[in-house]
Amino acid sequence: MRIVDLATADQDFIAEVEARSHQNLRTCYQCGNCTAGCPYTFVYDHSVSQVMRLIQLGQREVVLQCKSIWLCASCQSCTTRCPNRIDVAKVMDVCRHMAREQGYATEREVKLFTDAFLRSVERHGRAFELGLMADYVLHSGRVFTDVDLAPKALARRKLAFRPHAIVGRDQIERIFQRFRKGGAHV
Ligand code: SF4
Ligand code: SF4
Repeated sequence: MRIVDLATADQDFIAEVEARSHQNLRTCYQCGNCTAGCPYTFVYDHSVSQVMRLIQLGQREVVLQCKSIWLCASCQSCTTRCPNRIDVAKVMDVCRHMAREQGYATEREVKLFTDAFLRSVERHGRAFELGLMADYVLHSGRVFTDVDLAPKALARRKLAFRPHAIVGRDQIERIFQRFRKGGAHV
């Protein structure tokens, strides 16, 4: 966990997160409801309510380099529990995007998996699990990740050897192209 240095408060950071998430973060009064309902607090370096506070304090580097924004499962529990109707999960999402843009990936494997997933969806219109696994292994070097699950998944016909053809694949490809044209990092 990094030490918070209030002298380095980045006054623009909260405005940027607010603008991109369309949330009013100043209304967070640190009740802790979001953290109480978060299933991933046990692996976070900063709990979700701490992330909210760090944003309010303009701690750009601490937030964008923390593990929590990568480990968040986007389950929305924090959002549904916030008494101030802050879409906390969206704020976590926005921070993860900003971290990507600045070249941070504190949880490298999570980023690699997300990248492999998005490549698979872009290429096939939906996730092709076997190809996704091969892509992830290639980029991460984690050859034996979940390898023990493969025989069971194959036996239950949960893994196809070829991607399924889907309707509207070209439209999905166009979504990615539009996203990139907007300057976003996929
Ligand atoms: S969306 Fe993320 S931060 Fe919010 S409760 Fe779920 S895992 Fe925790
Ligand atoms: S639940 Fe809402 S008000 Fe309470 S700490 Fe979390 S973000 Fe802040």
